[in-house]
Amino acid sequence: MTPIKLSWPDWKYPEWIDEGYRTTRGWLEKKKRDDGAEGLWRIHNGLYDLTTWVDKHPGGKLWIKMTQGLDVTEIFEASHLSPSAEKILPTFFVREARISRNSPYTFHPGGFFRTLKRRVYEKTKNIKRGPSKRAIVLIDLFVVITLLLSIISAKYFNFYIGALTGIFLTGTTILAHNLFHQRDNWRMYYFQLSLMSVTDWRISHALSHHIYTNTRLDLEILLMEPLLQWFPKEQKNWIVKYGSWIYSPLFYCSLYFLQAFSRNDKDWGLNQIDAVNDRIEVAATFPWAHLSFGDHTLHHMFPTLDHDILSELYPVFEKTCLEFGVEFRFNTTWNLFKGQFHQLTRTLPNTVPRENITAPLKS
Ligand SMILES: [Zn+2]
Repeated sequence: MTPIKLSWPDWKYPEWIDEGYRTTRGWLEKKKRDDGAEGLWRIHNGLYDLTTWVDKHPGGKLWIKMTQGLDVTEIFEASHLSPSAEKILPTFFVREARISRNSPYTFHPGGFFRTLKRRVYEKTKNIKRGPSKRAIVLIDLFVVITLLLSIISAKYFNFYIGALTGIFLTGTTILAHNLFHQRDNWRMYYFQLSLMSVTDWRISHALSHHIYTNTRLDLEILLMEPLLQWFPKEQKNWIVKYGSWIYSPLFYCSLYFLQAFSRNDKDWGLNQIDAVNDRIEVAATFPWAHLSFGDHTLHHMFPTLDHDILSELYPVFEKTCLEFGVEFRFNTTWNLFKGQFHQLTRTLPNTVPRENITAPLKS
């Protein structure tokens, strides 16, 4: 069954994505085929040799090492708010790329994302980067409780305490997600208490899902196939469409649903607004936004900012949306929950963006 090549108007469709078994390392390796980075690091149309920068990169070695040979334009733009990164880039310039960029996304200086980024930088430049104190206290607390409960549940062989341990372990994992997006830090390895790998998630989540949200390059969706098929396909059988309603809640890790990539302006930030949904119940609330992927659109656009800063960005976000005539609205958790089931039954792309919208952006 060939998936409808939704959201792929200007891209070379990654045929390799349909070759079968998918892994995070395989995604990195195969994506290099289409990126035209020639073994270097591609940012826009320039090729850069960052080999000597690996040990000096303020964000840590891992990001640079694992992206060699890739077009890193989007992650570079989203991760670096300060203009200093762009200023030092020419030091590493090697040559212009031979082929055009295989991505429709744009980052024009006067476009939506760059404008918002400048404003976010102005607002956050005096705030110390890294997790806030209360974010650290919260995750440390969750780790201690998880470990204590796991010991107690093992000692008394108690199922209920074991289940409670699972809830705190889930919270720990979600909180650690905030940390692995940021510069390398030892607390990000709390994530591995879940037996999942920080490195793998930096690929599937930070480099894939955050950048190519809800497209065929989004590993967080692709890794669920064939069990869950959020992408519309012409011939979905009823087991895939409706059977998955029964087991799909077991897989939910975040709440969003796909829609057509219909906007003419290919600004990357606008694409994020189209692809990501935010829940009004948890927006800008502590600790619930931290514990349930709240303030999701802002997190998608500025993933390296600590989650605690995001709630302060709504005024500049609203101002920029108004200026660009962009509508951003919150949704309800219930609507998004229903949307997941609806999406699983879709055989044709959704051409109605922002369905089930509720309240407007609150400032
Ligand atoms: Zn994230």
